[in-house]
Amino acid sequence: MARIVAEARKAQEDRAGGYRERAMALFPHVCGRCGREFSGKNLSELTVHHKDSNHFNNPPDGSNWELLCVACHEEEHLNSEATPDYDGGVSDPIKDPTLFDNPFAGLGDLIKPDADEKSE
Ligand SMILES: [Zn+2]
Ligand SMILES: [Zn+2]
Repeated sequence: MARIVAEARKAQEDRAGGYRERAMALFPHVCGRCGREFSGKNLSELTVHHKDSNHFNNPPDGSNWELLCVACHEEEHLNSEATPDYDGGVSDPIKDPTLFDNPFAGLGDLIKPDADEKSE
């Protein structure tokens, strides 16, 4: 049993780690948003963002990747309201309860169109 778990974990690491390694080799270790440079120890704070938010779309030429620091990556997803795709956090949507937890989420906004209007 433990072996199966270990193998599954390794497969997941291979899948998640593979594109990160390629992206790191392809791009300079600089955040694409804030321009922070990363090296050595803090390189782990640099994450691979998928431009189309599809973690499984990993063209070897890196055209779907962008290196973003953890903070900027979070910002990016807050703005785009896409699913986070952090390294190693390749979430299985079927096992992610937050996606199916509340089928009526956002319904309040539909009923009360005047509420929560952001003016910026
Ligand atoms: Zn950044
Ligand atoms: Zn991302």
